[in-house]
Amino acid sequence: MIVTTRFAPSPTGDLHLGHILAAKVARELARKSGGTFLLRHEDIDDTRVKEECYTRIEQDLQWLGLTWDGEPIRQSNRLEAYAAALHRIRELGLAYPCFCTRKDIQAEIGKILAAPHGSEALLYPGLCRDLDGLETKARIAAGEPHTWRLNSAKAAALHGEISFHDLRHGTTTAVSTMVNGDVVLARKDIGTSYHLAVVVDDAFQKVSHVTRGEDLLGATHVQRQLQAILGFPEPTYLHHALVRDENGIRLAKRDAAKSIRSLRQGGLPPAAILDMAAASE
Ligand code: GLU
Repeated sequence: MIVTTRFAPSPTGDLHLGHILAAKVARELARKSGGTFLLRHEDIDDTRVKEECYTRIEQDLQWLGLTWDGEPIRQSNRLEAYAAALHRIRELGLAYPCFCTRKDIQAEIGKILAAPHGSEALLYPGLCRDLDGLETKARIAAGEPHTWRLNSAKAAALHGEISFHDLRHGTTTAVSTMVNGDVVLARKDIGTSYHLAVVVDDAFQKVSHVTRGEDLLGATHVQRQLQAILGFPEPTYLHHALVRDENGIRLAKRDAAKSIRSLRQGGLPPAAILDMAAASE
């Protein structure tokens, strides 16, 4: 089997040690078997993207010796592919438009929680799930902003049990889409979503092994369901441990002090930074 892995940062800030562990795990898995390591900029959320970050990310990776194969791709150039995938899910009758604002959803959840036995009201409460088809068409034609959501009950009924194999954690049954709720497939503003874009790109780039931090384990349950719906191949997974600070708190982009740039400015050489990242592996 040809192993293909990818590192998929969002160009919204500088890379930190957590990213470096993710890149390193992906690159080593590919290199071990003479496979391919790809770089993908996940830049669909243009409200958060910072133009200078594409180059800064690539420079940091190169400085650390975490070089990739081929040209990096940008999700912002692939909106048509995501629209085509959404179209397919809609044709299968597994997506519906949702006109709710965040406030509508909060209010509905509040009502359900206040009611007896309301604790199962966890995710999207399904306000737009059963809207009349003619009404939704008219609202769309009138230009009313809407997202597209997965009809999770229908999707779960169509696909039997779905699982995924993780090289660290073994085989897990993906929790049904009904547990994840009617996830957003296409946001109002950008016409796609993280889950949809990742699934489409992992298939397009023939990623055989999806490696990423274990904070994204939940996403894998959703993404396996979308792969099944779209008829995409099942990748193998590797969810690695997260890099934590001295207090055990997961590193995040806002921890500028732990950015690769600041460590480099502090005089640390690439090998020391790679070791620091790998310490939590
Ligand atoms: N873009 C995501 C991040 O920066 C990674 C997504 C993935 O690996 O699936 O956390």
